[in-house]
Amino acid sequence: MLLCIIYPIKLYNEDFIFDLRQIPLIIAILYGGRRIGVTLFVILVIFRTYLGGLGAIVSFFENGTLLLFLTYSINYFRNVSINKKLIFISLTSILTCILPIVYYFLIVGTKGYLDFMIIQFYLFILQSLILLLSIYFIEVMISNKKLRDKLVQSEKTEMISHLAASISHEIRNPLTVAKGFVQLIKELGSEDPDREEYFRHALDELDRANSIITNYLSYAKPSIEKTQLFDVNEQLKSIVDIIKPYANLYSVVVLNKSESKFDIKGDSDKFKQIFINIIKNSIEAMKTGGILTIETLVNDNIINIIIKDIGQGMTNEQIRRLGQPYFSTKEKGTGLGLMVAYSLVKVMNGTIRVESQLNLGTTFIVSFPNNIN
Ligand code: ADP
Ligand code: MG
Repeated sequence: MLLCIIYPIKLYNEDFIFDLRQIPLIIAILYGGRRIGVTLFVILVIFRTYLGGLGAIVSFFENGTLLLFLTYSINYFRNVSINKKLIFISLTSILTCILPIVYYFLIVGTKGYLDFMIIQFYLFILQSLILLLSIYFIEVMISNKKLRDKLVQSEKTEMISHLAASISHEIRNPLTVAKGFVQLIKELGSEDPDREEYFRHALDELDRANSIITNYLSYAKPSIEKTQLFDVNEQLKSIVDIIKPYANLYSVVVLNKSESKFDIKGDSDKFKQIFINIIKNSIEAMKTGGILTIETLVNDNIINIIIKDIGQGMTNEQIRRLGQPYFSTKEKGTGLGLMVAYSLVKVMNGTIRVESQLNLGTTFIVSFPNNIN
C-alpha cells in the first residue's frame, strides 16, 4: 500500500496526485480481517499526514468511512458466492468514488472541484477494473486451494483404509501371545517363580498392541493445519511405526538408518502423509519381500531423505508419469498417492527425484531446505 503512495500515477495535472492505495487497503480488510484493516488504516493516515496538504484530511475521512463500511461487511462478503462478491466490489468502487468527492466538497470547498471530479472518475474506472480482477483471481486461487486440500484429505482416508487391514492383522499377534501367557499363569501355582516373567511377557505384548493402535490412530485422526519446525528423524521413526505392520504383511524389512537431528519447516502431518505414500509403494513393489532402506543425508543446507527399495522397478516411461493423477499399474491402485505426495512436497518447497531400474529397484530422493540455521 505504501508503495502505491510512494509511486503514484500523476493522472491529471501536477496539483493532484492520485494513486491506487485503496486497492490493497480494501483487499486487506476483506481477506485479512478487522485488525489488519485498522493497522493499515493507521499507517496510511500517518503516512498521508506526513505528506501534508488538505488532501490528508480528505483522505482520513474518506478511508475512515471506507474502513467502517468494509469491516461491517466482512461477514457478508465471506459467505456469499463469487458473483455476489464481484457485485459487492463494484458497489464498493462506486463508494470509493463518491466518498472523496463528498469530503472534498465539505473540507476543501469548490476550489478545483471540477478537476477533482474528473480525476476521481478516471480513477474510479481504473480502480474498479483492477479491484474486480484482483478479487476474481484471489477467489480462483482460494477455491483451487480448497479443492486441493479436499483431495489430499480424501486420499489420506483411502490410505488409512488400506493400512487398516494390516493393522488389525498385526494386533492379533501380540493379543494371541498375551492370551497364551495369561493362560499359562492361570495353570501355574501361585508360588511358581516363572510367574513374574510370564506376566512381564504378557504386558509387553499388550503394550505392543497398544502402541500399534496408538500410532495408527494418531495418523488417522483428522488434523488441523499447522506450520512449525519439526524434527525429521522423529517423524520418520513414527512413520516407520505406522507402516511396519504393512511391511510385515509383505515380508519386507524396514531399515531406518537416519539418526542425527534435522529440522524442517512445515506441517508434520502432511510430512507423514508424503512418506507413508512413498514407502507404501516401495513395499508394494517388493511382492516377494525384501529390504526397504530409509536414510537422511544433508549437504549444502538441503536435507535429502532417501527411500530405497529392491523391488520391481520402473521403465523410463513409468518414471516420467509418476505424480500424474490416476497413473497406476496396480489392479486396485488409485494412482493418487504420488500425486498427493508430489503436491505436498511442492508446498513445502521441496523436490522429488526418482532413480529406478526395472527388476532391480527404485530410489526416491525427497529434498527439503534445511531450516536449522
Ligand atoms: P497407486 O499406488 O495407487 O498405484 P501411486 O500414485 O501411489 O498410485 O503410484 C503410482 C504408480 O507408480 C504405481 O502404480 C507404480 O506403478 C509406480 N510406483 C510408485 N512407486 C514405485 C516403486 N517404489 N517401485 C515401482 N513402482 C512404483
Ligand atoms: Mg500408492
